[in-house]
Amino acid sequence: MDFRNYATDIEALSLSSLKEGAYFIITCACGCPGCAGIDMPVRVTHEKEYVTWYPANPLPERILTFKKEDYHYSIYSLLNEYLVTTERYRRKFMNADWHMKPSVYLYNHKYLLQMREKLAKLIL
Ligand SMILES: [Zn+2]
Repeated sequence: MDFRNYATDIEALSLSSLKEGAYFIITCACGCPGCAGIDMPVRVTHEKEYVTWYPANPLPERILTFKKEDYHYSIYSLLNEYLVTTERYRRKFMNADWHMKPSVYLYNHKYLLQMREKLAKLIL
């Protein structure tokens, strides 16, 4: 899989670290997985020590297993970096009257903050 052709949905990825489910983690840079040829979400399962991905596409199908501890820590770090970086822009753009919102509005900020808090409790 050439990751230069895909983007990661940080909200879906964060959610996948908190509970099992099917998530469109791999997507297009515009946020629509369909443009990147992704028509099936990644099935994510949680076991005691491991988190496993079953991505049906992009092909080939495969199984990826992560240590739960590492998974939580990596996603916490990514989410934290994202929130710290975008906070600067969010404040700046908060009152801008634009038709096109910058990508920092692609996600529900409060929701991401809540997930960061939950992950912080899991890794400490
Ligand atoms: Zn797209």
